[in-house]
Amino acid sequence: MTDCGCDKAKAELEEFLHNELDAQQCQDIRDHMANCDDCSAEHLVGLTLTTKVKEACQEKAPDELKQLIVGAIDRLDARA
Ligand SMILES: [Zn+2]
Repeated sequence: MTDCGCDKAKAELEEFLHNELDAQQCQDIRDHMANCDDCSAEHLVGLTLTTKVKEACQEKAPDELKQLIVGAIDRLDARA
């Protein structure tokens, strides 16, 4: 099994979130995250932020958004 590694996964995570990678690159990152808690946690944070920022543009829920971001950062810090 090939693993693209954390460096590549993290470098491409933002493009992955924005669906800017080709199918093979997406698959590489998905495969990596399936086996890497660190990268999958980072992906979850990125996904949450991307989704919430999009939602916040449509409806204002600043307190909820702030709590989600703070909670996500706390979870990442707790792993470090
Ligand atoms: Zn990783």
